[in-house]
Parts: sequence; C-alpha cells; structure tokens
Amino acid sequence: MKARVRGASALLAVVASIAAVSATLPAVSPAAATSSDYALATQTLPDGHKVVARWDPCRTITYSVNARYAAGKSSHRNAAIRDVQAAFARASVATGINFKYVGSTTQIPTNTSANRWYERQNSAEIVVSWVRQGSSASRSSLLSRVGRGSAAGTGGYAFKYWKVTGSPWTGVTGRGFVVLDGSQIGTFKAGFGSGSTRGALLLHEIGHSLGLLHVGSTSQVMYPTVLPRSYAGYATGDRNGLRHLGTASGCVNAPGWVWTDLS
Ligand SMILES: [Zn+2]
Repeated sequence: MKARVRGASALLAVVASIAAVSATLPAVSPAAATSSDYALATQTLPDGHKVVARWDPCRTITYSVNARYAAGKSSHRNAAIRDVQAAFARASVATGINFKYVGSTTQIPTNTSANRWYERQNSAEIVVSWVRQGSSASRSSLLSRVGRGSAAGTGGYAFKYWKVTGSPWTGVTGRGFVVLDGSQIGTFKAGFGSGSTRGALLLHEIGHSLGLLHVGSTSQVMYPTVLPRSYAGYATGDRNGLRHLGTASGCVNAPGWVWTDLS
C-alpha cells in the first residue's frame, strides 16, 4: 500500500487485490442446481467505512490484450483475442458498462522491485495478458502457484481512495488485469462451448478485475475452479453480482487526479 499527499487538502491511497483460479480438477462434479450466489470485493476506507470495490460504471473502460504467449500461430492468437472480446461483451451486458478494445499491447502486468503493476499500466484500464512463467521476459509475478498445481489465471484490480477537506473518504477502482498461463493453453478449449473453455476462464478472471470474488456454488463462473462444463456466459449469481457493480448502482464520481483516464 502506498499513500501520498495531493496538495494540502486531499489524501490519496491505493490498494490492490488479486485472486487466482486453478485449472480443471476432474474429481469435482458440477452441481445441477442453479444458484443466485455472488460475492463482491470490499475495501475498508480509513474512517472504517467498508465499501464495495467498484469501477465508475458510467465511464468507458478500455482494455488491451497481449496474446503473444497465447499460442504459436497468429491465427490462434487472433482467436484468443476474439475470445477476450466476446468475454468483455458478456460482461458489458451484465454490468451495463461500455468496455472498449484499444488493441494489442506488449505489456505484461507484473510487480517489479521498482513499481507495482498499476503504476506502469498505461495502455488501457484493464490489460489481459498471457504469460510464460519459464522465462523472465514473459513472466508475471502476479501469477502464482495454487495448492499443488499452477494457477491457470489470475485477475485483480487497483482501488484508490481519497479525501478532500469537508467530504468523507471515497474510493473507486481504476485499473485491472487478467494474467493467464500460456503454457496451459491446451487445457482450455477455444471459445465458450462445452468442456473447460478459455471463454469460461476469461469470464472468471474478468469477473475478478471487475470486483467479483469466489463463490461456493459450482454452477457459477466465479466458482474457484473452471469445471469441464458448458458456460455460455455468466450464470445467474454472477450476473446478480455484476449488476450490483454496474450502472444499476449508479455512477462513482471521482476527481480527475485520482486515476488518469485512458479512454
Ligand atoms: Zn478466481
């Protein structure tokens, strides 16, 4: 966590949250029942007030994609980008937020000794990147091992809170990331059909970047493991959570100095 003073009357601080998902565990059998379960990430402001970590849903949120390590063939990399776009389209329907693809990037969200991922993320508000952990040039420190296996992906956000004299503490999310293990690309089928799909993995990690946490219901995309089942899109509970994070809950008005607008 880092805090700095902005002038004499305003305070600004930033916190970051990440979560990981593991690859398919065939031992888990999907439940048939539907569920309305969802969980929202929260942040506690310095005055003790706990708030849901939300983006301003009334502003366009840009995203860029680094598919260099998603596949060997360019046609397969392009298919991966199309899956990202399709996943954001589903998130847009569920939240009412306008997500805008601003092209490819060579950036990999990662923490370095010099800075944290959100301090150098200038290509888009959300960066989606495949990585290869075997080489320092293609690695992300955000993707870690989970239990006995390696995480297939991780997603998260950075949230800033501020105070201006005479007003209460307020906070808003302004950067997000999705990091996916390119070496596990063969574990996930392209698209959104039946089986363990890249589409479901993307929906899950994008869900984290927007502020969704894991749930215990196996029928939801936000279950911690991508199950070998068909996810056409977000399930009932996921959509309920995304609705709370989106335009239905109103705008979050932040001064321009809190986050640099990249749209
Ligand atoms: Zn997760």
